[in-house]
Amino acid sequence: MSQLAADKYEAVIGLEVHAQLKTNSKLFCGDSIAFGAAPNTHISPITMGHPGTLPKTNQLAVEYAIKLGLACGCEIEKDNYFARKNYFYPDLPKGYQISQHTTPICKGGTVTIHTSLGSKDIALNRIHMEEDAGKSIHDLHDDITCIDLNRAGTPLVEIVTEPCLASSEEAYQYVTELRRLVQWIDVCDGNMEEGSLRCDANVSIRLKGATELGTKVEVKNLNSIRNVKKAIDFEIERMIRVVESGGTITQQTRSFDATNDTTFSIRDKEEANDYRYFADPDLAPFHLTNDLIDGIAAQMPLLPQQLQLTLQEKYGLSAYDAAQLTDEKATADYFLSVAAVAQQFKAIANWMLGPIRQYLNEHQQSFADCTLQPATFAALIQLVEEGKVNFSIASAKLLPVLMHTNGNPLLEAEALNIVQVSDANELDNWVQTAINNMPDKVAEYKKGKKGLIGLFVGEVKKLSKGKADPKVVTTLLQEKLAN
Ligand code: ADP
Ligand code: MG
Repeated sequence: MSQLAADKYEAVIGLEVHAQLKTNSKLFCGDSIAFGAAPNTHISPITMGHPGTLPKTNQLAVEYAIKLGLACGCEIEKDNYFARKNYFYPDLPKGYQISQHTTPICKGGTVTIHTSLGSKDIALNRIHMEEDAGKSIHDLHDDITCIDLNRAGTPLVEIVTEPCLASSEEAYQYVTELRRLVQWIDVCDGNMEEGSLRCDANVSIRLKGATELGTKVEVKNLNSIRNVKKAIDFEIERMIRVVESGGTITQQTRSFDATNDTTFSIRDKEEANDYRYFADPDLAPFHLTNDLIDGIAAQMPLLPQQLQLTLQEKYGLSAYDAAQLTDEKATADYFLSVAAVAQQFKAIANWMLGPIRQYLNEHQQSFADCTLQPATFAALIQLVEEGKVNFSIASAKLLPVLMHTNGNPLLEAEALNIVQVSDANELDNWVQTAINNMPDKVAEYKKGKKGLIGLFVGEVKKLSKGKADPKVVTTLLQEKLAN
């Protein structure tokens, strides 16, 4: 496709994200929602919708939905009811899904994203609650489909944006931000591989500057943020091709094929599905009190974007460090716990985002598991700052020990024999030996090849087994070589 053709059009994207709420049990009964159980073991008669069984709403799920709504600045609907959305599908045991229809629990609101073009508020249309369906498994047997109903009835919120995203990059940032937010406020584990967060992307194109929306297609069940981006990129290009070659876009539901980054049609969407919604007669309408809503608001943690700003403004960190440290709440909490006992904020960030993160990664851990006590961490920073131990040696040798012992960093460093020698005689010896070892290089240095200083420092490092402070050594070498 020519650039000229691409430049004539703009994309319009609206995203629907299903987030599984982090409750223990289902939305309307006590069945567990744990992932990975043997098929069809978490299915009581209520999940199965047997006649005469009565659903009961999970209060915690409602509170989580409110929490997310408050975090996105939504208006909370006080008078709610659940509706039956009727349709037939083999993985829907009751023949209807319990959802919200005319009264989504949250209305409006925004999620702010940052892209290469700056920041943008993505407008939400609504967040509503509903139950999940079961799973149809097509690839277990050649000629039959297997049904696992464990997931049926799992509490979800569906977060629906207005058609206001303009590129796959915005969509990528939006899902990334939403994922960070739901994890941060602890209402969803955000695990896209296990399907706790799934995204449907609605995509259309129109001539640049046009005001009416074009016909959309909906790409279903994208299970990674990268696939959201790839599917949208593919769709935009496909649609431009269709229109440029004189065709028209048909409204379709499509699926993404991750093996070749393309999408394919599952069905043409009929004008309007007739779900025959009606209020579920087994569930009484429910009213949310101000006390309940205010109580949830009062317990809201500082949100990641606010904290990110604080880390820059109050702690003087770079935008990059602040973003990294607020990627997960446990990371930010850990930073703050150390910053409460040590003033060297930049050093804390450097340690955390460098050697400590590396150590944790190697042990398949996260900052939630970090055993290094803030006071020990503070003493470690102090030790390096005083020049007693060099940063890279402390990272490689002292840190792993402290992770286990939380001992006194100076004593541990002495035991490891890595305390830097500041004794002038000993330093002088190493420096002189290094100079004696490399007469040719000394001559070159004296002729003006000053860059060789690093080589001499390296030699001293070897001779001293890392115990000579490189800063002091450099000065000493410069003095000696000047004569
Ligand atoms: P449906 O009834 O097909 O589910 P909705 O009006 O509820 O459609 O919108 C579903 C999602 O599709 C929303 O995120 C909305 O922003 C988005 N959307 C609606 N129309 C368009 C369009 N023409 N182009 C892109 N996205 C759209
Ligand atoms: Mg839809």
